[in-house]
Amino acid sequence: MKYYSTNKQSPLVSFKEAALRGQAPDRGLYFPERIPIINQQWLNQFRSFPKEELAYQIMQPYVGADISPEKLYQIVTATINFDFPLIQLEEDIYILELFHGPTLAFKDVGARFMSRCLGCFSNQKTTVLVATSGDTGGAVANGFLNVEGVEVIILYPAGKVSHVQELQLTTCGNNITALRIHGTFDDCQQIVKEAFMDQDLSQRLQLTSANSINIARWLPQQLYYFLAMQQWPISATAPIIAVPSGNLGNIAAGLLAKRSGLIMGNFIAACNVNDTITDFLETGIHTPKQAIMTYSNAMDVGNPSNLIRMLEIYQHNMSSLKSEVDSSRQTDMTTINAIRTVYHDHNYILDPHAAVGYSALKQKLKKGEKGLLLATAHPVKFPEIVEKAIGISIPIPESIKPLYALSQQITEMEASYASFKEWICYRNTP
Ligand SMILES: *Cc1c(COP(=O)(O)O)cnc(C)c1O
Repeated sequence: MKYYSTNKQSPLVSFKEAALRGQAPDRGLYFPERIPIINQQWLNQFRSFPKEELAYQIMQPYVGADISPEKLYQIVTATINFDFPLIQLEEDIYILELFHGPTLAFKDVGARFMSRCLGCFSNQKTTVLVATSGDTGGAVANGFLNVEGVEVIILYPAGKVSHVQELQLTTCGNNITALRIHGTFDDCQQIVKEAFMDQDLSQRLQLTSANSINIARWLPQQLYYFLAMQQWPISATAPIIAVPSGNLGNIAAGLLAKRSGLIMGNFIAACNVNDTITDFLETGIHTPKQAIMTYSNAMDVGNPSNLIRMLEIYQHNMSSLKSEVDSSRQTDMTTINAIRTVYHDHNYILDPHAAVGYSALKQKLKKGEKGLLLATAHPVKFPEIVEKAIGISIPIPESIKPLYALSQQITEMEASYASFKEWICYRNTP
């Protein structure tokens, strides 16, 4: 499989090169040259496949000859070695829980896949730079921990990630370094962007990004949709799917799965007040905005990078995109209300991101339709907000208890590229 840049000003590359580069040299995003199509016979059988087999078959055409079949099978097996349960919440609403991975966020899948691919490719030491508002950093840190030949540098805004998230970022050690930036998430992202443009730095280090720009993080997200449909009741109609959305990577991966033949209903980009996609769907013009802080902070994105991939999937035909994708805008108030209502009615605790998705489904689902909500994070990662909604604190899951006993390693830094550059160039010299 070859990948082209959405800006069309860079040469075609293989999976390996696209994964190593992250973004294309012309600053476009990589996109597969053709979308593999699954056939009817496969669709008749896939419910009975073990999830590893399913994952292998979906990912193989995208990876091509860059990773051997045996190695790829190992990689996908390790990537998804936890549960993806589908739960019926209401008569018409089902939830796919994507938070059973090591950092309790759906980003574990992409991070685990990408790290293992890079581990396979690295002949030269690779430095992964990642700016995070919380979830990405933890998943990337955990996914890349002890991967040979790869170091990870995470930039996160001081005081703006939750306690559990900060523990996940700062307790790994080894090849993972956490920089606590005294600024906002946008400042962190700005530093990372400047680093990628800095010619001098790219001569010293082989840099790549671990944001959903990277195809090795983006493509495996299709698996959620296959895993959901494997479990979807046979007799039920295909679901309307609400995807809690920020950078639009997850929803774009779902649309890619649909385009390759997986039978699903329409999609809803469930957003908080940062819903630039709503205007885009109305006008066809993308106007980036300044992000506004909300309770669902992993979706506080004003300039979603994967919008361009959604367009590519529909070959830039706005009316076909609009016929399959809708958006919904939720406020912090409706988010809190959703957490409260679902807890009272079903004794089920949504995290703020899933709560946005739930409200979107409630708003958009028509009579006779079935809805599927992707629950993207465990509520314990957002304890203050959940407590505010339902007045109880959530018990800490066993799997993350050990974090509390580990010591944190944090490098404090002011929000300037100059400080970052000085640190990254001279950190090992006395
Ligand atoms: C990253 C994230 C999202 C948004 O996903 P995108 O692919 O950026 O749209 C939603 N919920 C949670 C919990 C996240 O961490």
